[in-house]
Amino acid sequence: MSAKPFASQADVQEKKTSFIKLSENAYAYTAEGDPNSGVIIGDDSVMVIDTTATPIMAQSLIAHIREITDLPIKYVTLTHYHAVRVLGASAYFKEGAQQIIASRGTYELIVERGEQDMKSEIDRFPRLFAGVESVPGLTWPTLVFEREMTLFMGKLEVNIMHVGMGHTKGDTIVWIPSQKVLFSGDLVEYQAAAYTGDAQLEEWSQTLEVLRAMGAQKLVPGRGPALLNPDQVNEGLYYTRDFVTTLLKSAKEAVAAGHDLKAAMAHVRSFMDAKFGHVFIYEQHQEE
Ligand SMILES: [Zn+2]
Repeated sequence: MSAKPFASQADVQEKKTSFIKLSENAYAYTAEGDPNSGVIIGDDSVMVIDTTATPIMAQSLIAHIREITDLPIKYVTLTHYHAVRVLGASAYFKEGAQQIIASRGTYELIVERGEQDMKSEIDRFPRLFAGVESVPGLTWPTLVFEREMTLFMGKLEVNIMHVGMGHTKGDTIVWIPSQKVLFSGDLVEYQAAAYTGDAQLEEWSQTLEVLRAMGAQKLVPGRGPALLNPDQVNEGLYYTRDFVTTLLKSAKEAVAAGHDLKAAMAHVRSFMDAKFGHVFIYEQHQEE
């Protein structure tokens, strides 16, 4: 069995990327279950939300932006600290980037675990790190907020918020209040497994309810297709809540029953596989 590669290392098929307009100012860059990015084109500048995994991979997103505008890509916002979302950041300096924005919790996770997470993600997901030699090192935020900050990109108001923990303790969302467009990062996934290696499972479903109350018209999840109307947004929120609560409930049952790790895994999978066995990256996460 030792010759069997990790599913993710054997996962070499390229994903097709899509760049779609969500509202007057918002765009989604999605990749068939690979990590998504978001773009906001304001009156005087551009924001990229999650950078892609490497500066080389970021060139494709930059090319899409440059088909629409020559404005400087002044802001890079990190929804959380995972390498696959942040290590492309240096590509945007040539495009005018002045600030890399992150929450206090994300900054702390980069300090605590950034180096370790970078190594482990690059080893586990080689396909997701095309041109990894172009990564200059960890991505450090230049602007760190505690709970919430508001940015005016010309007249366009953009809210950058930590509304609760879930996928990590530093989860950050970006919200355009006038257009009700939400960029959730990995707090919301759709048709893809939620990675829970850094998760705050007890808080995650409450945080999803905070997002639901915002009443988004459109939502860009961390993975999976963009959600393009309120029904789809709700479906994505329910999907993620189901994933998180099924996992937590069955794991608690296994602990209460005194199962060892192997038996606990089997118990959890007996509930999770039927619902989620078919979704993107589910098997990869099981093997971590
Ligand atoms: Zn993540």
